Amino acid sequence: MFNQETINKLKSIPTPFYYYDLEVLKQTLHLAKTESEKYNFIVHYALKANVSNEILNIIKSYNIGADCVSGNEVKKAVECNFNSEDIVFAGVGKSDEEINYALDHNIFCFNCESIQELEVINELAITKNKIASIALRINPNVNANTHKYITTGLEENKFGINLWELDAVTNLLKTTTNLKLIGLHFHIGSQITDLNTYKSLCIKVNEIQNWFEHHNIKLENINVGGGLGVDYHQPDTNRYANFASYFKLFNNFLEVRPHQKVHFELGRALVAQCGTLISKVLYIKKGVSTNFVILDAGMTELLRPALYQAYHKIENLSQSPHSSLLSPFYKYDVVGPICESADCFGKAVNLPETFRGDIIALRTTGAYGEVMSSAYNLRDRVKAIYSY
Ligand SMILES: *Cc1c(COP(=O)(O)O)cnc(C)c1O
Repeated sequence: MFNQETINKLKSIPTPFYYYDLEVLKQTLHLAKTESEKYNFIVHYALKANVSNEILNIIKSYNIGADCVSGNEVKKAVECNFNSEDIVFAGVGKSDEEINYALDHNIFCFNCESIQELEVINELAITKNKIASIALRINPNVNANTHKYITTGLEENKFGINLWELDAVTNLLKTTTNLKLIGLHFHIGSQITDLNTYKSLCIKVNEIQNWFEHHNIKLENINVGGGLGVDYHQPDTNRYANFASYFKLFNNFLEVRPHQKVHFELGRALVAQCGTLISKVLYIKKGVSTNFVILDAGMTELLRPALYQAYHKIENLSQSPHSSLLSPFYKYDVVGPICESADCFGKAVNLPETFRGDIIALRTTGAYGEVMSSAYNLRDRVKAIYSY
């Protein structure tokens, strides 16, 4: 992915920083749009994956909507000129202030996650003399077969309304004066690479749709959430998520009524591969079975490995990859400077012989990277640069 010219440029910039290849972003968006349009599917971008203005402006230019999980994300979407009718708002804990902000901006839909939330949105909408468009986020009890911290569609998870609550919900909706039910919403988890998982989701959604039809409730929108995974192991040879198979699967297995619109909320699959965390080697330190490469970036810049044992491909940009043909690879534990043992990017990572001052790339970090950065240990907030 990185040619020598790019590497030379990256070497001249103070580390650590995120480097975003906007050409890769555009290619990804183009693919996602082309494949989804084949079936008239509507795509929203899950802002929480990356909220940089440069990236949001490009995403917006592809006529992609916004999926928000906080009031400030709704605000950000509004500021970045996403149309209010393209903004959806999910989350188990929407505060009154956040709901009011979204009501004031007439967003397309609140994806509601509990009975009490429905009651509160109704009350706040009455105060404003507005009708809130809502979708029920239903927990379909489908296993996403991904890391337990990013599974969201099981009954034991906090997300969504459980199937056994549907009677109570529909009874409530008969009494709420200022809610308009416009559809159903599902989101079962993240980094889903086995597309069969989505087939299970489609089958569940079909059953749930039948339930609503039997209760004479019309649904204009079916939102199947996001979660499509990317290839963290081969960011160069398999750069784009399998959008073609993904959208085709929903077209094949989801029973869409003639009047219905189908919505998707993709985060990771749109922005992960365009980002790389660039860091510098501060020290090489002898360990018991391997040596440590100590970087100037840590869990404060990239939390995913510490939080979910996530894998990111690690490359030494200063040593020619060809040198490894002449000299053997060495195994290193690649760690950050933070005072936590979880601050480790990889154990026994194969790298060419690595030296103090070498530039290290942590690949596929465009999603859930910069947005999760923190100032723990009173660290500076990580910077970002963009290629055009
Ligand atoms: C996080 C999230 C998404 C996006 O998930 P990805 O795995 O990044 O595609 C979509 N919808 C909701 C409700 C979310 O919380």
